[in-house]
Amino acid sequence: MAVAHRPDPDADPGYQQDQREDEEPREHHQAGQGSQTCDHGTSPSRVDACAAAQYAVQRVQTMPVWEAGPVNPLRNALRGDCHVHTDWSDGGASLADMVRGAAEQGHDYVVITDHSPRLTIANGLTAARLRRQLAEVSEINAALMGTGLRVLTGIEVDILADGSLDQDPDLLAELDVVVGSVHSGLRDDRAVMTRRMVTALADPNLDILGHCTGRKLRVKTDAAHAASRWRPPSDFDADAVFAAALRYDKAIEVNCRPDRRDPPSELLKRAAGVTGLRFAIDTDAHAVDQLGWQELGCERAQTAGLTADRVVNAMDADALLDWCASHAN
Ligand SMILES: [Zn+2]
Ligand SMILES: [Zn+2]
Repeated sequence: MAVAHRPDPDADPGYQQDQREDEEPREHHQAGQGSQTCDHGTSPSRVDACAAAQYAVQRVQTMPVWEAGPVNPLRNALRGDCHVHTDWSDGGASLADMVRGAAEQGHDYVVITDHSPRLTIANGLTAARLRRQLAEVSEINAALMGTGLRVLTGIEVDILADGSLDQDPDLLAELDVVVGSVHSGLRDDRAVMTRRMVTALADPNLDILGHCTGRKLRVKTDAAHAASRWRPPSDFDADAVFAAALRYDKAIEVNCRPDRRDPPSELLKRAAGVTGLRFAIDTDAHAVDQLGWQELGCERAQTAGLTADRVVNAMDADALLDWCASHAN
């Protein structure tokens, strides 16, 4: 491929390695991974929720042990996924179908993390809509009772220009897991971006820092991201950000999306070198098939030297909830 259009690789130490997959995305990045076609429509409704929850229940009951196959040992250690979208915001599948997909992945839990109000382009949820979603989650959990699979409440909340979070703090405090991400002002200068991220990490409601550099690769994934163009990583003082995550005991996300692969490889290695720093290996899935992307993130995490004891979603649901509660005050 022509190199002329490429940005300066020096601007992103992980660029050379990551660019290879950018140019030649693997087939299974885009293709379905064996999950079944959705029969339940795409609009969230109580009927759909119950039908898909029952389906998920059957899957869990007939698949009591996760049949891993020849996959990464880190993937085998994962118990859930902490970053998943639905058609409540810009996802392509209903909440119930994403829960069914989580069952197919062998998960014990899935955290539903739709977007916050300011991200209007992604149909971010107002406080009122988020409360309605919480009611739907509670119905699905009632149907899943006794199966070992549960849905945890959450949000991918925008980190605003001043580092505050784009949702009512009391509502954030009610959620099980809060992922915070920068989606705007990505070209802020280094000092401003560092301050934003450190301020967000200090917020007791935030648990996981999502796709920290915000970069985008030229990989086509789904309709919600079809218009995405290449975007370089944001500029921030990574040592300061990782030190803040360590100080407040927050997790850095390993975003599994093939069009993100965030943090880039060199930065991920650097983060892995920070003793005690925690991580979450999450798909940021916007469709059922994308829940299978977790293995891609696990491969990268393992290459960077991460082990399961540092990964928050290798904990069971109760331990994960305890960890989230431990830094909320
Ligand atoms: Zn995001
Ligand atoms: Zn997301």
